[in-house]
Amino acid sequence: MSDQPIVSKRSYCKICTNQCGVVIDVAGDEIVKVKGDFKHPLSKGYTCPKGRALGQSHRHPNAITRPLIRKNGQLVPISWSECLDDLAARLRKVVDTYGPKRGRYLFRQRPRHGRFRIPHGRHLYKSLGNPPKFSPLTIDGTAKVLVASLVGGFPGLSPKTDNDNVDMLLYVGVNPMVSHGHNTGMFNSGSTYPRCRKRGEVWTIDPLLTETAKYSTRHIAPYPGKDYAILAWLTREILDGGPIDLAQPVCGIEELLAAIPPERPRRGRNRHGRDMSSSANITQWLAWVLTILTGMMNRKGGVWFHPGFLTRFDSFELPIMDNPFSPGAPTMPEVSGIIGDWPCAALTGRNRGRQYPRVRQFRR
Ligand code: SF4
Repeated sequence: MSDQPIVSKRSYCKICTNQCGVVIDVAGDEIVKVKGDFKHPLSKGYTCPKGRALGQSHRHPNAITRPLIRKNGQLVPISWSECLDDLAARLRKVVDTYGPKRGRYLFRQRPRHGRFRIPHGRHLYKSLGNPPKFSPLTIDGTAKVLVASLVGGFPGLSPKTDNDNVDMLLYVGVNPMVSHGHNTGMFNSGSTYPRCRKRGEVWTIDPLLTETAKYSTRHIAPYPGKDYAILAWLTREILDGGPIDLAQPVCGIEELLAAIPPERPRRGRNRHGRDMSSSANITQWLAWVLTILTGMMNRKGGVWFHPGFLTRFDSFELPIMDNPFSPGAPTMPEVSGIIGDWPCAALTGRNRGRQYPRVRQFRR
């Protein structure tokens, strides 16, 4: 333990999107304690165990704090200059041998992990002549971007729940009581849900009795991957009996009615799934449809779109993207990319390429 005086410094946790405010007690270079920052306007003192363990991660004996290189089968420390020269020489060899575009580029980290990574990464990508690129987008977030493009015309539309005003909250296959650091980030889920529950209903559709399901007023357990059948039935009920409350002009209601038969989904039978085997996409799509039909898209008490602090989507007319699909690898032309990314992986599917009926929302 350092004999230097302990000083408290304000910072934020960079592990997940929430970016909770933290106060770090340091003695010289040593982290003594990490605690929540009660003066932070959003997190108000909240941190999860990962945030409070930042100090332990920082001084973990296995933490990699300097570059390592394998020499004679052993990892040995080297200087940053040596490391960067080595990387540059290897990259130069690839470019000289195969040409700049033969490389493949993987965008991984988000800006929260280091604000310079994205601009520097883009710069390198551009200087290599824009070779094919990959990102997690085609692994675990495709439905969100795809549906935002198909329904709203822009892939960057990422709805956030208005937790302070919502009175009917419907969770589908997510467990934000535990995992709340994604792009609909939430600080203190343990106090947010009881508040929502006090105001109205919290339903969770999940095959498992998750922590979120336990906090809900209603838990519906479908067969795994069949959540969309419940959403389709809810959509049909609203289309037949209301209340439909369109806050924005929409088109495609007739096609929607034709696409969702009026029968109630039956246990053990996949009434709606036969033609909708891509469960993630159709589930996300129906969630948007329900939100639009009930007038809760971009409205108080529903979901809203954060314009981004740097992007400021609200400061210009968003370009309409009618087709989010882009070419993928020439060796598999039948598997398309999405908004410029090549697919990282592909599954075979009998309905691949089938078009969903369009319910398009137009901005005023
Ligand atoms: S929720 Fe946890 S991991 Fe995420 S920013 Fe806050 S303290 Fe860090």
